[in-house]
This record gives sequence, structure tokens and C-alpha cells, in this order.
Amino acid sequence: MNSATTPTKTTKPELASEGTKNANGLSKKMKALVYYGHGKKSWEEKPTPVIQNNTDVIVKIIKTTICGTDLHILKGDVPAVTAGRILGHEGVGIVEEAGSAVTGFKKGDHVIISCITSCGKCVYCKRSMYSHCVNGGWILGHLIDGTQAEYVRIPYADNSLYHIPEGSDEEALVMLSDILPTGFECGVLNGKVQPGNTVAIVGSGPIGLAALLTAQFYSPAEIIMIDPDDNRLKTAKKFGATKTINNSKENAIERVKELTGGIGVDTAIEAVGIPTTFELCQSLVAPGGIIANIGVHGKSVELHLETLWSRNIAITTRLVDTVTTSMLLKTVQSKKLDPKLLITHRFKSSDIIKAYDVFGHAAKENALKVILTND
Ligand SMILES: [Zn+2]
Ligand SMILES: [Zn+2]
Repeated sequence: MNSATTPTKTTKPELASEGTKNANGLSKKMKALVYYGHGKKSWEEKPTPVIQNNTDVIVKIIKTTICGTDLHILKGDVPAVTAGRILGHEGVGIVEEAGSAVTGFKKGDHVIISCITSCGKCVYCKRSMYSHCVNGGWILGHLIDGTQAEYVRIPYADNSLYHIPEGSDEEALVMLSDILPTGFECGVLNGKVQPGNTVAIVGSGPIGLAALLTAQFYSPAEIIMIDPDDNRLKTAKKFGATKTINNSKENAIERVKELTGGIGVDTAIEAVGIPTTFELCQSLVAPGGIIANIGVHGKSVELHLETLWSRNIAITTRLVDTVTTSMLLKTVQSKKLDPKLLITHRFKSSDIIKAYDVFGHAAKENALKVILTND
């Protein structure tokens, strides 16, 4: 390994100057949402992050959000997250301080934080598979402190941040940290959505809707949204679904067969992450089709090879690589894509516990994405 791949330490946190300020002039304490094990979290004071490696940047968070993945963490589904960790992997902010080896960003730059950290140099980054970066990947709010805070340290900032063009609606761009690239890369690209094809998206939550919005780049003939919640289906209609099926009231398999001349869909996108929805996709996919999984699964799923073995189908899985973030940003700039549609609730960061409550009862609260704003 080339020594250049290993960032050198420039500042040791324990050497920060005494008093109430860090060497960079920031207050030593900030507020953050801290995870304390199954179901436990608290909005409290934590040390303000400092540059640890010369490829780091410290970002002052302007706006962040809560992800379904954060709820999984709180349920104890992601044991790698240990007590004391600051959650959050999405957000926009302003560069407060840049390490000496950072060339693409400087103090004052407005940035989108990618949920995936990439060193840009390892074997996976060289293949544009940033999700599996051996030095990064999904680490924010997982293995290192995240964005639900006043400040965050972003490692390998040159490859992990994106400049926000002047005059942009920064709130809308929070959706580019994770859910839009996730819906697009894991659902639409992996599902090979094509003009004239038929698509079923199982799950009309934020990720399913992100797939619905970005699938329309390719003009499929049908996009059928399937969900047990009528409100979410109504939203899906507004977002461009051609048909909706409430699978708590209707037989989704029969309805999809009716709508597709008896054969099923070319692309079945799984956007929930439970066994029944993945099994539903296996029944919806047409011969020659693709099941593109997006959902985060915590349980094993039955694979019906006894019926699928002869059907020429493919099943794909993916952790978002965020390789399409720049492209998606252009589509937002050109107004092809309006990610603001996904935002339903807004809170001050100090009300984050309430925001978690609303997001955790999304169906009852009619919530999609919640935006948290720092003062
Ligand atoms: Zn997320
Ligand atoms: Zn890498």
C-alpha cells in the first residue's frame, strides 16, 4: 500500500488547548443526538469534533434529517453502533475547518454530506464501489460520530463532500445525502428500468418514493406502487405512479397480473426490508425481469427457487455507492427532480426527540422526511 493512502495525524484531540474553545476557535462543547443502546437516545452536550487527520473537514451542520436506518439502529438491529455514538448520516452544512491535505474544500464552502465516506484510493473506490471503501463506506452515525449534531468530522472530505451551487435550496439537497441516490442506484439502476417497461415498487415510504421519482428519468410505461397505507399511495400518485395497489385490501399479485397482461413486471423494487415484501417481489417479477432489493433486511427470507429457477430473472442487492450524487444534483438544478416533495415536517434540532417520535410513527403522522435545522 502506498503511504499516501494513510492520512497523517495533524492534531491530537487530547492536545487541544485548554479553556472553553478548541484550537480552531470553536466552542469545545456542542449539542448532539447520542445513542445509548436499545431504544435509548438523548439530545445532550458532546465534545465538538476536531480535525484528526489532514484529510478531514469539520462541517457546521445547517440541516439534517432522520433516516429509517436510524430507527433500525434504535431497535438494536445494527449492533456495530455502540452506546455514546452520535447518530445521523445525512445533511448539508458549511465547512468550518479543512485539514491541510484537503484541496477541494475550504472554510465557508456550503456542502452536501454524502452518507458514504470514500477514500478514493482503495480497490473498491477505484471501482466506484464507494459503499465498500476499505477506509470508509457507511461509517457516519455508525462507526464514527454522525450528523445529528451541531458539527461533524468528515474523513476523506475531498471524496465525501459535494459543493452546493450558489442559490440552491439547501433543504431540498438534504435528500441527496442518502435517499435519492439510494432509491436511484439500488432500485432504478440495479433494476435496469427502461423506456416502455413495467415497474412495481413495493413500499411507498421515502425510499420507495425516491425510486419512484428517479425511475421516471427512463419513462417506464407503468410504475405500480404497492403499500398498505392509502395516504402514502395518494402521495405516490402525485409523484407519478401510474397505478397504486393497497395490499392490505387487495391481492397485489392478482392486480399486478391484471395490469401486465398476466406476466408480471420487468422490474420489482423491494423498498421495505421484511420477508413478506421480498417474497411478494418474487411473485411479481416477469420472466426475464429483475428484483432489485433496496430494503435493509434483519431476517432471512425464503427464496422460491422451485418457481424462479427457470424464469431467467436476476436478483440484485446493493448498499448505495453515492456515485450518482453529482448527476442527481444536476437534475435538481435543472428542475427535472424536486426532492423537496419528500419533506413533510420541519423541526429545530433541539426538538429532535419529538422529530424522532413523529418519524417513528410515520403512518399515523403522515410523515415522509423530517428536516432538522440548527439555529
Ligand atoms: Zn439513511
Ligand atoms: Zn476507498
